[in-house]
Order: sequence, then structure tokens, then C-alpha cells
Amino acid sequence: MQEHWVTGDCWLGCERTGVPVIWLGPLQWDGQHAPVHACKPCLDRLKAQALAYFMQRRPAAV
Ligand SMILES: [Zn+2]
Repeated sequence: MQEHWVTGDCWLGCERTGVPVIWLGPLQWDGQHAPVHACKPCLDRLKAQALAYFMQRRPAAV
């Protein structure tokens, strides 16, 4: 994943604005698209959650 940081608003709940954020992807809702951006702390939280998800799904016999 290529990281491209811009200054903007975080969409992941911390309500910070004017901070370095990264584009995560388009959010589709009711036929509309919105660009979802996340700041570093929120991205780290998301990454940790994704990692936990991957670990959970990994077959026991590795
Ligand atoms: Zn945030």
C-alpha cells in the first residue's frame, strides 16, 4: 500500500481536522461515494484491528 499523506479531516471518529491524513478508499453509501481519510493514530488502531482479524482467521497449522 502506497502511503500518500495529505492535510485534511479524519473520518474515523477522533474528529480531528487539519491533520495529516491518508486516503483509505471510497465509502459507498446509498449510491453515493465519499473519500474516507484517517489520521495516524486512527490508522494504527485500524491496522491493529485488521491484524487481529487476520491472526484470528489464520489456520492453526502454519
Ligand atoms: Zn483520527
